[in-house]
Amino acid sequence: MPKVLIIGAGGVGRVVAHKCAQVSEVFTDIMLASHNVSKCEKIRDEIRQKTGREIQVAEVNAEDVPKLAALIKEYKPYLVINVALPYQDLTIMDACLEAGANYLDTANYEPQDVAHFEYSWQWAYHDKFKQKGLMAVLGCGFDPGVSNVFCAYAQKHLFDEINYIDILDCNAGSHGHPFATNFNPEINIREVTQAVRHWDNGEWKETPAILDQKSVHFSFDYPVVGQKDSYLLYHEELESLAKNIRGLKRIRFWMTFSENYLTHLRVLQNVGMTRIDEVDYDGTKVVPIRFLKALLPDPATLGTNYTGKTVIGNVMTGIKDGKKRSVYIYNICDHAEAFKEVGAQAISYTTGVPAMIGAMLMAKGIWKGSGVFNIEQLDPDEFMDALNKYGLPWKQEEFNGNLPQ
Ligand code: NDP
Repeated sequence: MPKVLIIGAGGVGRVVAHKCAQVSEVFTDIMLASHNVSKCEKIRDEIRQKTGREIQVAEVNAEDVPKLAALIKEYKPYLVINVALPYQDLTIMDACLEAGANYLDTANYEPQDVAHFEYSWQWAYHDKFKQKGLMAVLGCGFDPGVSNVFCAYAQKHLFDEINYIDILDCNAGSHGHPFATNFNPEINIREVTQAVRHWDNGEWKETPAILDQKSVHFSFDYPVVGQKDSYLLYHEELESLAKNIRGLKRIRFWMTFSENYLTHLRVLQNVGMTRIDEVDYDGTKVVPIRFLKALLPDPATLGTNYTGKTVIGNVMTGIKDGKKRSVYIYNICDHAEAFKEVGAQAISYTTGVPAMIGAMLMAKGIWKGSGVFNIEQLDPDEFMDALNKYGLPWKQEEFNGNLPQ
């Protein structure tokens, strides 16, 4: 029976552990391991209280390949779900190869000393996973993740070719803090302060970062939550979707930011608090962004007073039976409801549920293969059904709204 090992006990790890525990007919044995075992124990105790199920916990440094491989060999999971940090992707993949386990993550690799992420490092593992008959599934959260599956579903059922994709990510929630990030602050701030790129007619076009006065943004009318200023942002799924979607001419990613968030971040950036290099403070080496992380609210604790909703989806325009068509597929998730169910806010929830679904499809042999895959390369149908069943229902509408040209 399939055992699963979840690595990382932050906001997302909590949701994955709770959701796997809810699906007892698939996940018969669950182990949650992280840097700090006390975080795993807390989640284990809550799961026991909510579901009556026992999960195992362990302490492991995911950057220590021999120790992690030994843990995998001892526990023998069919799959390791990596919801630690992008810095650990490659060491966890190495340990899976050594110990003979499949792999799934929600964010692509990023070196600690350079704020840059891309798939090349993980795609380079394709032959190694193939030779061992193992499967690695990359980017199985919401975006990347569900955003890729929406494209695969549209490509399979709704279009003969998709020419334009706009992924629109809106968090219209309120956590009550003056400034906080919804997932790991270090990873989040590194992502949103970088130069922006989108893919247009076969090449990457660069535009100013979101903090720049010349950043590209517009107001989009989101279902239920209404008009929100949405900023062009580079996001990792653009890289794989630009390769894998037939007929694609342009793909962009937009995310909402409030003026309050941007003002705080602009000040932090201007005073050097988002720097990722070491500075000397009174003879001690300090990395400012890590220090900032220590000061900011832990995203895993934001759920307590979070209200409002996230609305994340894709507008896709292309050709079906010789006619132009635009379709919008999206999910709406409520922060307070997510918290009531699993003790986490909607950003963690919308990431953790798809990771559980991907793990379930691998356990059932519905997603199978040898090598490294982005999830638009896998069949979307059962995944789309499971989203409706396990807490992230989606809607599909013809799209008649406006997007910037
Ligand atoms: P958190 O920082 O809350 O949690 C990360 C967890 O990983 C913590 O428990 C941390 O332990 C643990 N960890 C860190 N380093 C190691 C290590 N070397 N060995 C073992 N465990 C380690 O992050 P989130 O839960 O918010 O995010 C988790 C992942 O999900 C990130 O990769 C993030 O980028 C991704 N994500 C993806 C999204 C998507 O839609 N695709 C959206 C949101 C997030 P400790 O706290 O003890 O250091």
